[in-house]
Amino acid sequence: MSLGITMDPAEADVPPVVDRPPEAGAWPHRHLLDVDALSWSDIQLVLRTTDAMREVLARPIAKVPALRGTNVTILFYEASTRTRVSFEVAARNLSADVVNVAVAASSVTKGESLVDTVKTVEALGARILVMRHASSGAPYLAARHFSGHVLNGGDGWHAHPTQALLDLYTMRAKLAGAIAGAAGADQDGRFLSGRKVVILGDVLHSRVARSNIWTLTAAGADLWLCGPATLLRGFEAWARAGAGGAANGRFTVTSDPAAALRDADVVMALRIQQERMASGLLPSLREYAARFGLTADRLRLASPDAFVLHPGPMNEGVEIAPDVAAGPRSVITDQVTNGVAVRMALLYLLAGSTASDTVGG
Ligand code: ASP
Ligand code: ASP
Repeated sequence: MSLGITMDPAEADVPPVVDRPPEAGAWPHRHLLDVDALSWSDIQLVLRTTDAMREVLARPIAKVPALRGTNVTILFYEASTRTRVSFEVAARNLSADVVNVAVAASSVTKGESLVDTVKTVEALGARILVMRHASSGAPYLAARHFSGHVLNGGDGWHAHPTQALLDLYTMRAKLAGAIAGAAGADQDGRFLSGRKVVILGDVLHSRVARSNIWTLTAAGADLWLCGPATLLRGFEAWARAGAGGAANGRFTVTSDPAAALRDADVVMALRIQQERMASGLLPSLREYAARFGLTADRLRLASPDAFVLHPGPMNEGVEIAPDVAAGPRSVITDQVTNGVAVRMALLYLLAGSTASDTVGG
């Protein structure tokens, strides 16, 4: 497949994909199902490619021919506006042919199985399948039956790899000045080394937290997970075992927001996922807000330069106070822009991948 870095004369009116082409073809994975399969150098390649895509987004016409002629099919089985639109904009910016399968209006509601749907979209030309599903593991099943590339846009409570990568990219961009200074990244470029990063909220139901545990510890962060004990179940054992990888992977779990937030460099608030909440896990939203909500007062415990992320959608006044969400420490809108750039990078890398790994590889 041509990734459009070199153009034929007929395309001369279209700007080249990026001025400093990233290492297309260097991507060793056929699918992106979760971040746990990525090495630190894979993650760094994503971040560098995202830099290139940010440059594309800064142009007056943020469009490049990299995926011209490539069918990107977006198949979302779960309600979503933000992420679906973000993938769609990313694919269009790369000139892909985008097919949106509206599940509510498709044969899926008539009982067609996931495997049949995957085979159908493949027969209709899909080369990259961006998929979201309420069941953990569904994209792995799809990947076993699809001859192209599967990109997981969120599965159940399990994984949300593009979100974790855009969060990491946002932190890197925000810390860029500090990283360039004396203290900062270690030799391997693990730029969160020595930084305290807190994930605060409904960790239990969060695929965002699960994927972020891998990427943040891989980047060297001193990671803390905080929320009511009922919403941290299972994470203590994981913390003791470590998230895998060599020296990294350790993190701390606590129900004490003051301990978590003290001197934090980065705070990520998570939505209370009421649609996934079994009864009895939370006394009430008011009590949750009072004990764990990220308010300006609580944020004062963090380092004076600390910044705040939230994957959206937000319940303002519950897990995050409106003045924090819209305040000077918030990088929530940067996350949205970076989300498009990261998804462009991943579509680009997957399209250029010649890896033939089967699921699990
Ligand atoms: N579920 C949220 C939404 O649909 C965010 C997301 O899609 O990731 O807006
Ligand atoms: N948008 C994120 C997700 O889809 C977070 C959330 O829904 O709270 O997982």
